[in-house]
Amino acid sequence: MAARTTRVVCLVRRPAGEPAPGDFTIEERPLPALNAGQLLVRNLYMSVDPSMRGRLESTEKHYTHNFTPGSPLDGRALGVVEDSRCAAVPAGTFVRHQLGWRERAVLDAGDTDGAGRIDPGLAPLPTWLGLLGQTGFTAYVGLTRIAAVRPGDTVLVSAAAGAVGSAAGQFARLLGARRVLGTAGGPDKCALLVKEFGYDAAADHRAEPARDALARLAPDGIDVYFDNVGGEQLVAALHALRPGGRVALCGMMSQFGGEGRSAGINQLMQAVLKRLTLRGFIVRDHEDLRPEFERRAADWLRSGEVTARETVVDGLENAAQALLSLLAGGNVGKMLVRLDGKA
Ligand code: NDP
Repeated sequence: MAARTTRVVCLVRRPAGEPAPGDFTIEERPLPALNAGQLLVRNLYMSVDPSMRGRLESTEKHYTHNFTPGSPLDGRALGVVEDSRCAAVPAGTFVRHQLGWRERAVLDAGDTDGAGRIDPGLAPLPTWLGLLGQTGFTAYVGLTRIAAVRPGDTVLVSAAAGAVGSAAGQFARLLGARRVLGTAGGPDKCALLVKEFGYDAAADHRAEPARDALARLAPDGIDVYFDNVGGEQLVAALHALRPGGRVALCGMMSQFGGEGRSAGINQLMQAVLKRLTLRGFIVRDHEDLRPEFERRAADWLRSGEVTARETVVDGLENAAQALLSLLAGGNVGKMLVRLDGKA
């Protein structure tokens, strides 16, 4: 007998300042009956994403809808089809989709995310939400299409030990970068950047002003900046970029919430003087690159040229805490919530 209800994480109220555990709760909600073309999916892993922070607010504009108090959160997830009214996606198929932050979901078979079904024989399930998923794809798009990394480039990545950053550093090297530099919070993450993710050097953004770090790590300048954080680090990168340098504006971790927002960009004259290109992007506009990305990333994984790292938190009841931890830098690689300890 198929499940009739599911536990979901709901937003209680919009956060006043930084989000807190009391802003979230878990509720039991009914599941609709399956119609033709629909699937009942039991979620196994849920993606925890920085973009959720902005979606908690009422005013922040996002590329998808904002969350509403009293309603469930959502986000990318990977699950197994338990019941199907779609012959092409039978029970037992593993699929990625957008109805995470709940244990079970009813969705249209056509709503499975990106490539939809995934092959667990090719890579472990968590990897399909991380290095082979949207975050790895974001790194690939930013480097290949937005910043157009070229052999011999010096590439700087911020939030370099995170999901996108750890992929970006490794991909940059494989795309021919001569030097790959990263910034991250704390000495342990910086050590990991060099030891595990193949960065040439790393700087701790919590311990050293960004401009000093870049003067030390890249006295001759950088060609590409893959920006995950904005603020002071972006300003420092504008100074460090060589003429003709390129910036992939991927995200602005430092700009969430009160204090960070005051750290505006005040050095754009650098972009004029050095003929820089600064280009923002949203990964979902670049789906045409996904087959190429999946082929290359799967090859790199198989050959051991890249490492996929995840930070996994267990249980729906710990999901909100996982989001708070991500925002505070508590993750290495992709932050995930596991809903089935055996998966
Ligand atoms: P991460 O795994 O990188 O986690 C976020 C990290 O940000 C934390 O671990 C923390 O690392 C760092 N951080 C938090 N606060 C600050 C701060 N004030 N200054 C500097 N660093 C901070 O997340 P993702 O890899 O999922 O996402 C990385 C970026 O990519 C985000 O900005 C996200 O919004 C963006 N993104 C953009 C997409 C697009 O289409 N453009 C798609 C997907 C993601 P540390 O401990 O090192 O400080």
